[in-house]
Amino acid sequence: MYPITDIHVHIQPLRQFHSQAAEQVRRGHPNWAQVEEFCEKPSAFLKYLDAAGVDRAGLVNYVSPEVTGFTAEVNDWVAQYASADPRRLIAFGSVHPRCTPDTAAETDRLAALGIRALKIHPSHQWFAPNAYREELPSLRAVYERAAAHRMPVMIHTGTSVFRNARNLYAQPLLADDLGVDFPELVVILAHGGRPLWMNEAFFLVRRHPNFYMDISSIPARRLLEYFPRIEEIADKVLFGTDWPGFGMNDLGAGLEAFRALPIAEPAKCKILSENAARLFPQ
Ligand SMILES: [Zn+2]
Repeated sequence: MYPITDIHVHIQPLRQFHSQAAEQVRRGHPNWAQVEEFCEKPSAFLKYLDAAGVDRAGLVNYVSPEVTGFTAEVNDWVAQYASADPRRLIAFGSVHPRCTPDTAAETDRLAALGIRALKIHPSHQWFAPNAYREELPSLRAVYERAAAHRMPVMIHTGTSVFRNARNLYAQPLLADDLGVDFPELVVILAHGGRPLWMNEAFFLVRRHPNFYMDISSIPARRLLEYFPRIEEIADKVLFGTDWPGFGMNDLGAGLEAFRALPIAEPAKCKILSENAARLFPQ
């Protein structure tokens, strides 16, 4: 058996959540006390990963005063959390160009902190991933410095039902410019554009050599309907659950549902293990 990576879980400083956004997530989850415990105690979360048969997890955090309430403090918080076991816990941080005076210096600082990847959430941060070409020139330095540090950038694609989310920014095609302007940058299109723009995500992953996508928050029963040709891009797909997001109450159950799908075993191994091991060497 090979070691499995769940590249997309939300371990975050819950006290920063805007009350309205927190309420929305809490309402969708039957065991919120467990979520709180795992967000406070890395040791408890690692045991949960052990029980699910998951070796490593990507801890996705991003700055979003507009929608969720998270500030730049999430970066130091997740770096500290992941330091409990840096091999197994892969910290994702965030540089929000509208909240950061020097985006290049902040990206360098995060790399030095041990943060392994960045998250951009266009619909929760209210800018398009290619906004460096127009109204947010300082976003360019984030991508340049991330490429220099070999930090992958995960970009949320697909709809969000959080109040104040601006979904037009979450269209995968808005990330096409990154493949043109930053060919060395590893880009992970989170959620493959579900449930509206799967064709765009599939196109971009095939077009750009350093583009990947994750399958988090896509219900397993929908995966092959959304991506009938997933085996063709098996080298560029990463398993993720989006735990504890809407409808994803148990990370282990999400893994088992994926495993039960009629996908060829070598492709499953790439998606569950090999691709993440390549992008995040131990
Ligand atoms: Zn997510």
